[in-house]
Amino acid sequence: MRPQLLRHAAGLGAEDCPAYLYDLQDLREHAAAIRAALPGSVQLFYAAKANSDPRLLGVLRDHVDGFEVASGGELHHLQSTCPGAPIAFGGPGKTPAELEQALRGGVDRLHIESEQELHLLTGLLGERSVDVLLRVNLPIAVGPVALAMGGQPSPFGLDPQRLDRCLALVTDDPRVRLRGIHAHLASGLGATAHLDLAGRVLTWATAWADQRGVELTEVNLGGGMGVDYGRPDRRFDWAAFGTGLRRLLEGHPDLTLRIEPGRSVTVYCGWYVTEVLDIKRSHGRVFAVLRGGTHHLRTPAAKQHNQPFTVIPVDTWDRSWKRPEARDEAVTLVGQLCTPKDVLARGVQVGRLRVGDKVAFSLAGAYAWNISHHEFLMHPAPRFHHLDHAPALAGPHR
Ligand SMILES: *Cc1c(COP(=O)(O)O)cnc(C)c1O
Repeated sequence: MRPQLLRHAAGLGAEDCPAYLYDLQDLREHAAAIRAALPGSVQLFYAAKANSDPRLLGVLRDHVDGFEVASGGELHHLQSTCPGAPIAFGGPGKTPAELEQALRGGVDRLHIESEQELHLLTGLLGERSVDVLLRVNLPIAVGPVALAMGGQPSPFGLDPQRLDRCLALVTDDPRVRLRGIHAHLASGLGATAHLDLAGRVLTWATAWADQRGVELTEVNLGGGMGVDYGRPDRRFDWAAFGTGLRRLLEGHPDLTLRIEPGRSVTVYCGWYVTEVLDIKRSHGRVFAVLRGGTHHLRTPAAKQHNQPFTVIPVDTWDRSWKRPEARDEAVTLVGQLCTPKDVLARGVQVGRLRVGDKVAFSLAGAYAWNISHHEFLMHPAPRFHHLDHAPALAGPHR
């Protein structure tokens, strides 16, 4: 935690908790480093579903080539927060209204998920034209990863043998310009595994295009760059990834590669800060009950991991009774929800944790607040603080 952020977190009163802290300077530096690590010819899009907070998007805008959206809602949001930014629209189950919205303008690529979707699209086109990628579910074993989206039965993308039907529809229709292939096959990959996958996707895509006489100009490799919640310091190796992509592209000088990471871009800039309300001992285990919970930060429940955290000691205690504490023992950190699933971290060794101390959960900048069930139990929503090196921009809102 940067000193400025730590000071801000330490300065929060009990009633200011829980709060989300976003470190905009950290995000800016991280995004710039990712961009710098990639070859200039590789396009970097940010997958907005990881976190579409407008202030984060505003920072990212200067460092990415565009944004990937997966719904009409995200499309509208991006068009109003980042007007003019290139947008790719992907995701399964696009409705006719969403396709129409995409065709009305501002969408630079539409990722086709199925033959049905292509029929819907061509039915809506009229005089208009559109640039598409076909999303393919390649028969590539992705191994043990956090989330596998391809290489197995899946609602995402097209099986390779189904591509030909789509190709026939596109070839007969000059309004649909087929630019290439999209393959977002897995998430949670390290740089070596992702490069290996990228190589196999490129080999497959170029062979397919050659066989079918298709002019392949673009391949979108998706996102899925890994985030290690158990070892937050071990980040995706963007330098190695960039070097590997540069090498891969040597064999394909006319190809444009695009990636669309989400989690690995914004996860590190977000913190969920709260306080310990109670320390309880139950049947030999110690529980710290925190203000807030997985209705604000569902990530550990969704991914079944321990959310990493830092304890920020608060030394004042003005009650008349003895302050409950845990000392040099394993503690399970839970929230205020009346369900045993409301666990943020299970059986984690702590030096000392007392009622009234603050706990700052890291890696809360992606798939955190926005995937959580906010209304469950009707506790107050957290406030959001965007911290930047320019103090005028800092402060809570919402
Ligand atoms: C979710 C998603 C991404 C981003 O994945 P991350 O794991 O957040 O990097 C990119 N592309 C598509 C098609 C997705 O569904």
